[in-house]
Amino acid sequence: MEKNCLFCQIANGEKPTEILFENDTLVVFKDIHPAAPVHLLIVPKRHIRSINDLTESDRPILSELMMVARDMAGRQGLAESGYRLFVNVERGGGQVIFHLHLHLIGGWQK
Ligand code: AMP
Ligand code: ZN
Repeated sequence: MEKNCLFCQIANGEKPTEILFENDTLVVFKDIHPAAPVHLLIVPKRHIRSINDLTESDRPILSELMMVARDMAGRQGLAESGYRLFVNVERGGGQVIFHLHLHLIGGWQK
């Protein structure tokens, strides 16, 4: 837990946020500035700055992020229509919150 990290605060329940899903590894909540009709953030509880900072022991976290993204897409009714998963890496990659997170966007088609 990093004291001044917004996503650590959300994951630790220190910043009131509607949590759509939670397990031991991660939390899922809506992006505050949605870029699509559905825009969720899948966020590991462990503070990892970016993809660049992953270590060998983080492998299970990565697979959990993907599996939960798949499940959340299904729960949002996006499995058939399709969706996008992406990670911004560091400033040049568009990252503005320096706590690793996976974006799930979709829901354009009715
Ligand atoms: P990134 O550019 O990959 O670092 O994405 C950070 C995302 O976090 C942006 O899409 C923001 O809209 C989103 N965001 C920032 N603050 C909050 C918040 N308090 N709750 C939910 N999403 C947030
Ligand atoms: Zn953090």
